[in-house]
Amino acid sequence: MLISNKIDSTAYLCRIRREKIMSGIDTKHLDKFLEKLSDIATSEIKTDALTLGLYATDASLYQVAPLAIGIPGCLQDLLKMVNLANEYNIPILPRGSATSLAGQTVNHAFVIDFTKYFDNIIEINAAESYAIVQPGVVRDTFNREAQKYGLHYAPDPATSSRATIGGMITNNSSGTKSIKYGMSIDHVLGLRVLLTDGTILDTETLTPEQWHHKCLINDREGQIYRDFRKVIYDHASAIEAAFPKVKRRVQGYALDQYIHSDRWNLGKIFSGSEGTLGIILEAKINLEPISKYKASFTVHYADRMDAIREVNQMIPFEPAAVEMLDFNVFEQSKKNHSLAPIHAQLIVGDPQATLSVEFFCLSQDELDKKTTEFSQWLKTNSKAYAYPLLLTPTELDAMWSLRKNGLGLLMGDPAGRKPLPFIEDMAIPLEHLAEYIQAVLDICSSRGVETILYAHASVGVLHVRPAWMSQSSMISTS
Ligand SMILES: Cc1cc2nc3c(=O)[nH]c(=O)nc-3n(C[C@H](O)[C@H](O)[C@H](O)COP(=O)(O)OP(=O)(O)OC[C@H]3O[C@@H](n4cnc5c(N)ncnc54)[C@H](O)[C@@H]3O)c2cc1C
Repeated sequence: MLISNKIDSTAYLCRIRREKIMSGIDTKHLDKFLEKLSDIATSEIKTDALTLGLYATDASLYQVAPLAIGIPGCLQDLLKMVNLANEYNIPILPRGSATSLAGQTVNHAFVIDFTKYFDNIIEINAAESYAIVQPGVVRDTFNREAQKYGLHYAPDPATSSRATIGGMITNNSSGTKSIKYGMSIDHVLGLRVLLTDGTILDTETLTPEQWHHKCLINDREGQIYRDFRKVIYDHASAIEAAFPKVKRRVQGYALDQYIHSDRWNLGKIFSGSEGTLGIILEAKINLEPISKYKASFTVHYADRMDAIREVNQMIPFEPAAVEMLDFNVFEQSKKNHSLAPIHAQLIVGDPQATLSVEFFCLSQDELDKKTTEFSQWLKTNSKAYAYPLLLTPTELDAMWSLRKNGLGLLMGDPAGRKPLPFIEDMAIPLEHLAEYIQAVLDICSSRGVETILYAHASVGVLHVRPAWMSQSSMISTS
């Protein structure tokens, strides 16, 4: 389904209507729902073709028209919206900044946008290293406040200048430093969540006794605590056996959080739930101290596979990040107006791949010790041909700028080559990473397809993008 540049509203609305019928939504219910929604005076309700068209897209390949958009201005209005949707059996889809890559924020649903009014920082408690925020707060905006206290919310997806903390928690985001800081789920201390029947849950970490007290409550909350405990108790061994033991896992409900500890926080089940269990109203999040002592090696390889094979051996040095870029990015960065000076500053010769290995320490002595040991290891064990050490904030910023702009450079290849993100974000145990990547490269090269590799080598999450030359770029546009 494509929306032409010049939107023909009538045709577009007719098409949306046809799609609603096809998706099984009762159009009489929908009409009543929309009529009643318009009574919610203090919030924004949008049903015009242009807005529906805008919200039909996110950062994924998909495009699906929503039923209507609600931008709640306050909790009371949000409750009214959810009650109405419940009454008329209309699906609800919460939305942050819609940078999800797998179509999570587009559907034939009533889309509720939290970015405009639910974006307040409620509390930053520096003494106890936590904050309470509304879901629509953008991660970098929050961190600009937290850094005044020497703290930060550590998960750092590449979209951190847009990604909301609600979206990050609900799709369990993480980023370049996940080997040190884990994922969003690891920083959830408590959530206030709205369920579709209007129940509001406040969650926190509980002892088995405290959980049992919750089970004794004779309402929906008590029932949820009872049923949830039964699911975990009845299926603990199946959960243990079935859940993959990888450092980054975001698919499915995180039931494995509840089998290795008897301190349970119901809030964690919402992390990774993609909005299917309830709406986050507030989040109590863990904050980490900002490391003052940092250094990064840019380890250069003449062979991409050598870089991948060596990652596992670097982990015992406890880096905060090991990020890979390959020659496909360097071919573009050399030519890009703003990145060419950074390329010239950081890249030695023509590597097939680099690994940026960054260390965060609590003292200068610790940093000196780590960098000395690691550089000794590189000298004696690595196939790398160069490994400049970056120490100043300017050098480190330059390195991250090249890394963070990598995808944009690849997507904007003037030759028209399009790296396709359909085997993105596979989490592979490090001991199998080289074997897996080699198999993918073999499949692609047997079909004459080039392959781009980059990203979070430290946790076995390499973005593997087969690169395809688009037809339109081959046809001259006279
Ligand atoms: C170029 C690019 C690079 C990326 N890099 C990374 C990366 O390094 N690491 C990574 O993890 N991800 C990455 N992503 C994916 C995405 O940007 C992140 O996961 C981001 O954290 C999503 O935040 P968001 O505000 O856009 O959430 P959205 O996409 O709006 O929503 C995410 C999920 O949360 C749900 N949701 C939103 N708000 C609420 C709420 N209040 N209550 C309940 N559910 C809610 C939505 O329904 C959806 O299922 C990348 C995406 C792009 C386009």
